[in-house]
Amino acid sequence: MTVQLTGIGVSRGIAIGKAHLLQRGEIEVLEYAIPAHQLDDEINRFRRALEVARGQLNAIRGRIPPNTRVDIIDFIDTHILMLEDSTLTIVPEHLILTRRCNAEWALKLQRDALVQVFEAMDDAYLRMRKDDVDHVVTRILRILLSRQHEAEEHIEVRLTGSILLADDLTPADAVLMQHQGIAAFVTEYGGPLSHTAIIARSLRLPAVVGVRNIRRFIRDDELIIVDGQRGVIIAGADERTFDYYRSLQDDELRQQRALQQLRGAPAITRDGLHIDLQANIEMLDDVADVVAAGAGGVGLYRTEFLYMNREDTPGEAEQLERYAEVVRALDGLPLTIRTLDLGADKQVDSGHTSRQCTNPALGLRAVRLCLRNLSLFRPQLRAILRASALGPTRLMVPMLSNSQELMQVLELIAETRRELDREGLAYDAKMPIGGMIEVPAAALTADFFAAHLDFLSIGTNDLIQYTLAIDRIDDEVNYLYDPLHPAVLTLIHRVIEAGANAGIPVSMCGEMAGDPQYTRLLLGLGLRDFSMLPSTLLEVKSIITGSDSRQLRPLTEELLLEFEPGRIRALLAKIAAI
Ligand code: PEP
Ligand code: MG
Repeated sequence: MTVQLTGIGVSRGIAIGKAHLLQRGEIEVLEYAIPAHQLDDEINRFRRALEVARGQLNAIRGRIPPNTRVDIIDFIDTHILMLEDSTLTIVPEHLILTRRCNAEWALKLQRDALVQVFEAMDDAYLRMRKDDVDHVVTRILRILLSRQHEAEEHIEVRLTGSILLADDLTPADAVLMQHQGIAAFVTEYGGPLSHTAIIARSLRLPAVVGVRNIRRFIRDDELIIVDGQRGVIIAGADERTFDYYRSLQDDELRQQRALQQLRGAPAITRDGLHIDLQANIEMLDDVADVVAAGAGGVGLYRTEFLYMNREDTPGEAEQLERYAEVVRALDGLPLTIRTLDLGADKQVDSGHTSRQCTNPALGLRAVRLCLRNLSLFRPQLRAILRASALGPTRLMVPMLSNSQELMQVLELIAETRRELDREGLAYDAKMPIGGMIEVPAAALTADFFAAHLDFLSIGTNDLIQYTLAIDRIDDEVNYLYDPLHPAVLTLIHRVIEAGANAGIPVSMCGEMAGDPQYTRLLLGLGLRDFSMLPSTLLEVKSIITGSDSRQLRPLTEELLLEFEPGRIRALLAKIAAI
């Protein structure tokens, strides 16, 4: 019998392989009393467990291949740091002493208390950090209960080509997986923003998360199919289904090889329009992918990652150094540095962002936060301006929503230039200043922003969130996230027209720009500059080179007049077929 299960596809690609069920089993923790004269021994037992846990994580960290992305290493480091934190060291010891209970029970009490604090947080990103507490505590509990080999043992066996099915995976698991040649993984928990999902994408492993109870429906060693794009898992498939997915796999492989040929080719439509394809980056390490994809530059450098996972704030000198590294690595390709977009789902430890507000996405975020906190903003403006002396650089401001904000930012930039002049520090006086259009109010008044800026960039991730009133990281309302909603398309069109009327370039750097199903529609809407994840760039380029913008325009205009989702999809299919 064929069983088909669905979850959230978080990393595309098709895998066919034998299921390997990771059954780590629930850890049952029981409370028992410790006599007063044995409390010291119990504390020592707890300390030894912490020591073993540290040793295990350090050993895993030591096995990370040198080319592993920094964010994966950071996950492991976070867990190592948590083992030093008093919340997991001193507090459980105190509980052992005051409650006269066993170490396991003390640790469980502390874990429950911490998880409760995380769960009460408004911010979805922080809420998910409770997973880290859980992973670290489970590791210590296994050691205390002498079940320490359970986790690693299952992953250490040879798993080349297998598909791992687990309740959840820790960052440490992910590092081990990299060694084992896993073909894909499926987890019962986790959302698109979970660590598991982030790691899957960075390892380019097909992955589906949030498939509850999958290990009840699928047996160990059963041959299964995972479609990481659609979020589908199929077991007990007939030969025809296997043949179909094998042919999809072959197509994918052929397509990847064919796409490589396009690397050095320009992105020109059949009717001769030159399209600029740039890439989005978050850190220096990403530049290698930008170059490998043959991107024309970086259309979005998210600088907030410089501020994360630390307690202090990077100053001007540190920022200048980081930006200079990226400029140098790009070797003459243009770099668009976005000013800080902290707040909402991107919180930091240094306390600049407000965690108390009930609706962080509508709160003190991005340019609002920077204008409120000039000691945060000014050093960044100085660092970006100074970086512009080193290579082609553009400055881009996120989340603009009204004219006052724009005027204040432009005045601050002018002031910073005067300051640098006085100090005799170099910068590019012609560095283009642009703004992101990602709030519906800004899209509706895009003419004003276009009149005062050198370029605009449409941030569809937020534009869709704010237009449709859906939290982009809330799994419960993800189904409403619709780039094809007529309101969204009308706003995008409006911004592109505003740019054209003002004679300035309009780019798109939200996820929609890198989704091949929308490439032709965006061309038809008049978009000429795209910025996306490097991994999607060649596919988008191949669609562009096969398109004729003159044919796309009338169909796109027809689509813009539609309101009914079925008809919009049908027109999109028609656009794809011409
Ligand atoms: C966007 O909102 O589309 C965007 C690119 O910015 P971010 O995803 O960083 O909010
Ligand atoms: Mg945004």
